Amino acid sequence: MIEPTEGVYGGRHRRVLEHPDHRAGINHGTMTIAAITDITPSLTRVEAALDHEGDASRWLVTNPAIRLELPDPEGSSTVSRVYTVRSYREEGERRVIEVDIVRHEGSSPVMLWLSGARIGTSVRILGPRPHFCPPFIEERPALLFADETAIPALVTILRDWPEDRIGLIWAEAPDRRVLNELPFPNGVEIHWLPRAESEPPGSTGRLVDAALEASAAHPEPITVWACGEHQEMRRIRNHFRRDRGMARDEVQVFGYWRRGRTSSQIDEARLQRYEEALALNPRMTVLDDFDVDD
Ligand SMILES: Cc1cc2nc3c(=O)[nH]c(=O)nc-3n(C[C@H](O)[C@H](O)[C@H](O)COP(=O)(O)OP(=O)(O)OC[C@H]3O[C@@H](n4cnc5c(N)ncnc54)[C@H](O)[C@@H]3O)c2cc1C
Repeated sequence: MIEPTEGVYGGRHRRVLEHPDHRAGINHGTMTIAAITDITPSLTRVEAALDHEGDASRWLVTNPAIRLELPDPEGSSTVSRVYTVRSYREEGERRVIEVDIVRHEGSSPVMLWLSGARIGTSVRILGPRPHFCPPFIEERPALLFADETAIPALVTILRDWPEDRIGLIWAEAPDRRVLNELPFPNGVEIHWLPRAESEPPGSTGRLVDAALEASAAHPEPITVWACGEHQEMRRIRNHFRRDRGMARDEVQVFGYWRRGRTSSQIDEARLQRYEEALALNPRMTVLDDFDVDD
């Protein structure tokens, strides 16, 4: 268990954002809410206007992510939280993005901010930066696994899907409506893994079971992308990397959140491990979230 050194939400983790790797090419700006819509009981869509100038193409890459800078519930400063930019559009001079926020229990920085957010509320943002995309290698089928927090990433991945590439996708969500909104390119099958409202997110193991079954059903060369709760993602990553022996560049797996830990704690632990690994091997390149995992 990682113990926060200066409070759960504030303190040393901000050093992560000062780290050169995290600052490279990052833009600062503000987004101002133009609409807030509850899409399902657990999902709220925020549409916001950007004050960013500069190259619009940065917003149109596959799977762009931003950090929201939010008030620290435990102090007077801010914390940051990562969200996917589900869509970007221009209306004349106006630049508008959509961010889908999965609501969860507890008084976390994002949940508190969202409960008070109104049309006209502004928040500082960092980014965008492209996050992990599925590896597309030769003509291999791509297997994708996502929980509800990774469905916005799927939106952009499917929007940019290579023509006629076979894709097999499993997504766990309490409500099927979020999947009905996904682009549906040729060659792609999407399987819904329902989660009852009474089942805590990240606890069902259904994505892990789907990954094991899919792996057995597809002994041919494949590639894998998976994003969701950290412990579930670790099991998926370990199956494909260790049990099946797939290479690093064939498997992209990332923990988007972790049960029982705040993102501030995850950021801090990740940076600490990265620094330790770098001290041992200055040429090390971190290619995978779990390279610096505990
Ligand atoms: C690249 C990337 C892209 C992401 N994109 C999205 C996105 O588009 N939409 C989205 O909703 N999330 C997304 N996330 C996940 C989001 O950043 C985390 O869920 C974040 O922890 C939410 O911050 P918080 O302040 O609400 O909770 P924190 O303060 O980080 O955590 C407080 C508590 O809430 C729990 N918790 C956090 N998130 C969840 C959850 N989703 N379900 C249940 N319990 C939770 C934690 O385990 C902890 O116990 C993304 C993460 C990454 C790394």
